[in-house]
Amino acid sequence: MTAATIISGKQISEEIRKGIALEVEQLSKQNVRPGLAVVLVGDDPASHVYVRNKEKACQDLGYYSEVHRLSAESSQEEVLALVDKLNAQDSIHGILVQLPLPKHIHEKAVIDAISVKKDVDGFHPVNVGNLVIGDDSLLPCTPAGVIEMIKRTGIEIAGKHAVVIGRSNIVGKPVSLLLQRENATVTMCHSRTANMVEIARQADILVVAIGRANMIDASYVKPGAVVIDVGMNRLENGKLAGDVDFESVKQVSGPITPVPGGVGPMTITMLMQNTLLAAKRLNGLA
Ligand code: NAP
Repeated sequence: MTAATIISGKQISEEIRKGIALEVEQLSKQNVRPGLAVVLVGDDPASHVYVRNKEKACQDLGYYSEVHRLSAESSQEEVLALVDKLNAQDSIHGILVQLPLPKHIHEKAVIDAISVKKDVDGFHPVNVGNLVIGDDSLLPCTPAGVIEMIKRTGIEIAGKHAVVIGRSNIVGKPVSLLLQRENATVTMCHSRTANMVEIARQADILVVAIGRANMIDASYVKPGAVVIDVGMNRLENGKLAGDVDFESVKQVSGPITPVPGGVGPMTITMLMQNTLLAAKRLNGLA
């Protein structure tokens, strides 16, 4: 048996970012510089790392960026007032509020307050609704990255059976809608699914987003299937693991994403792409 192809999110990201950099250069001739504002509330260490990575991606691509680090004690009113200010600020085209927020702040109220046109995370209910009905919208970054990676395998999505394990609002549900938009036949699995192994084994494309380290082993995978592992689980030894048992699954699968270096880098790249698109749209250039 030949070894499975590894789908490198890192490499695909680099290719996409080169294209973005060229567009940024073109836009600068029209005096437009994409601008991203990130709002971080509290001290969650993982969130601080994610925000630093986003800040760095902005710097590398020549975006304007602002990071607003608020204390964990900030009130909901303070966060909403900042979002309002950023909604009105011309230099900002994308607003991202890093989740999770401290418990006393209502996440939905904050997401709902972000201008639909600047909602580069794609979490605003209007963008989610547009995704459901197939209208133009800013797509959520991780799901958009998943689709991009599948496309880059060169495998035709149309007509394939895709199985998505996990039905969260930020990953599983939007991934399944996007696969359906690409004309796959989609089955969704979740914690109450019966016979999950049998269902997963029918998949030509298997996307896993459950948050259970290494749970999906080779018994879930049809030989040759494309496997996309969204999971990011921190093990006790500090290492990062996906939801897929990479070593066993790659023995039977077709193209497969690793963790780290798979979906993770794509998420930030898609955020950069959304910010570019928002900047063009807000300036009447797209
Ligand atoms: P989540 O909100 O906790 O949702 C997990 C989903 O998996 C739920 O729908 C749950 O089913 C299902 N599930 C849990 N255990 C299961 C099991 N044993 N069998 C079948 N289904 C099961 O998680 P999420 O936010 O979607 O994130 C999923 C994973 O992706 C996490 O590891 C997260 O860190 C990672 N992630 C990575 C990125 C990235 O950039 N790479 C971005 C976002 C998330 P129920 O609905 O029935 O409870």
